[in-house]
Amino acid sequence: MKIFTTRVALSGYLSEQKINGKSIGLVPTMGALHAGHLSLISEARRACDLVVCSIFVNPTQFNDPNDLAKYPRPLNADIEKLQEAVCDILFMPEVAEMYIEGESWHINLNGLDNILEGKIRPGHYQGVTQIVKKLFDTVMPDKAFFGQKDYQQVKVITELVRQYEIPVQLVMCPIIREDDGLAMSSRNVHLSADEHQRALVLSRALKLAGDIFPNKPIAEVKEEVKRFVNQIPGVDLEYFEICDQQTLQPVAAKDGTPLVALIAAKVGQIRLIDNIILQ
Ligand code: AMP
Repeated sequence: MKIFTTRVALSGYLSEQKINGKSIGLVPTMGALHAGHLSLISEARRACDLVVCSIFVNPTQFNDPNDLAKYPRPLNADIEKLQEAVCDILFMPEVAEMYIEGESWHINLNGLDNILEGKIRPGHYQGVTQIVKKLFDTVMPDKAFFGQKDYQQVKVITELVRQYEIPVQLVMCPIIREDDGLAMSSRNVHLSADEHQRALVLSRALKLAGDIFPNKPIAEVKEEVKRFVNQIPGVDLEYFEICDQQTLQPVAAKDGTPLVALIAAKVGQIRLIDNIILQ
């Protein structure tokens, strides 16, 4: 696996590969890799000639400095996992390589950044679009792979690609879960055994939502699911919403629009998110 730390070296190498007709797949990550990330690498491996994985803990998408400081960074283990997954290229720049001092541009995300995660984490999606735009500009991938785990992020990046007319195909890959149902996340390492058990309520709540959704009005589904989550002590529900898959606006009644149910909760100090496609 080749490792690059500067944009100019990476883009120079990739332009040679493109001249030789190689297609490029990009998997952006913040490291602390788990089977969820590795599933994106496998998907990229299947679809493209060369796989580029980026590891960059992007400071502009953290609105809580504490969260940024304690974000896990097991770099050697990550490199080993990428080598096992037959990733071709790792891009791991320093912050100064990706941002100039005081940089603060924004794009109009048509409200996608003010709801759900965006409402609770102001500025988060502007930070995500900044870094993903820079990665797209550097790598110029044919395809880029993102997890459904961060469903709202996929919609935000879809909007970025639309507005800037970026010639990349976005691929959304399924959520990879622990055997007990907990959606894999780099943050799960911070859960105690007891918190891990409590955290199972998120995936169970989504399963409940999926089960009762066909036979109940949306308001009843929401009420029942919220009751189900609130009965678990130590779990602080931030939102459970049933939304239009495209706009992510909450939907009050079923009218055939494809829907997604999204949940976020704090288990102890750890924020977790999960979602399920409803129809
Ligand atoms: P992160 O390192 O958390 O920024 O995640 C990097 C990429 O991996 C994003 O596209 C995530 O949506 C994706 N990802 C994270 N967890 C999972 C998971 N459990 N299943 C599938 N994809 C995931």
